[in-house]
Amino acid sequence: MNYFAGIDIGSTAIKIVLIDEESNIIASRTTATGSHFHANTIEALEYLLEKGGIERDNVTYMMATGYGRKLFKDADERISEISANAAGARHIGKEFGDIKTIINLGGQDAKVIVLDDDGHVKNFVMNDKCAAGTGRFLEVAARNLEIEVSDLGDCHLKAEGAPIAMNSTCTVFAESEIISLLANNNKKEDIIAALHYSIAKRVARLARRGGLEGPVFFDGGPAMNKGLVAALEDELMCEVIVPGIPQITTACGAAVLAKEAYISYSVSADA
Ligand code: ADP
Repeated sequence: MNYFAGIDIGSTAIKIVLIDEESNIIASRTTATGSHFHANTIEALEYLLEKGGIERDNVTYMMATGYGRKLFKDADERISEISANAAGARHIGKEFGDIKTIINLGGQDAKVIVLDDDGHVKNFVMNDKCAAGTGRFLEVAARNLEIEVSDLGDCHLKAEGAPIAMNSTCTVFAESEIISLLANNNKKEDIIAALHYSIAKRVARLARRGGLEGPVFFDGGPAMNKGLVAALEDELMCEVIVPGIPQITTACGAAVLAKEAYISYSVSADA
């Protein structure tokens, strides 16, 4: 049996997805990127292979993507996050119909990819200049509020009434705004909802700039945050599709493209 690996080395997390010859997801792993991209990727891959009982030699083709893709020397090929994210959303999202717009929030960037009727990338826009509206912004805010990033969503859902206004768009100013909102006896859940709405507003603006069309697929680590999903749906005024494990879509797309690349090389070698 041949297996194919998609390895997404992001600014915050390494995601690895293994698929089989039928493109079924066999196993996945998410681990912190840290500063040793190559060593950490190898360690995550070995862990995954051991857990899945898969021999390294049976991983026939590895496609790397993401911010650190050039630093993973063992990859057979590398591909941009845009192509891998689009392939992953098409693969994982096919049960929801033809996805037209992908909104991806990562640790340090926000991307909007618009697909044409054949599922090819028609347009994309990106914000990677500023941490506001990204996973990093949420991590900083969670630290200020002394809660885990993974608890932000549940906390937001406890907020009542109209969201309070959050004026700072910059991460550094947002930190001091959070501290003064806490000092003024605002509840944590209300501050968290305000943060999510401020991110959702930025992302919705980016999506409109990219040529937003439905159905909309939302992925990347921050899509695990139910409060942010709710705020984004309000700002976009439409439902968004969130896959079961939104953080691994891009790695999954890289695995699908690894399989396609392997098949096309095998066919041309046979001809
Ligand atoms: P990258 O590809 O840039 O490394 P990811 O798509 O892996 O980024 O997303 C990382 C971000 O996901 C983190 O900065 C954090 O804000 C968010 N995140 C991670 N785990 C969770 C969780 N359990 N719940 C909500 N958000 C999370």
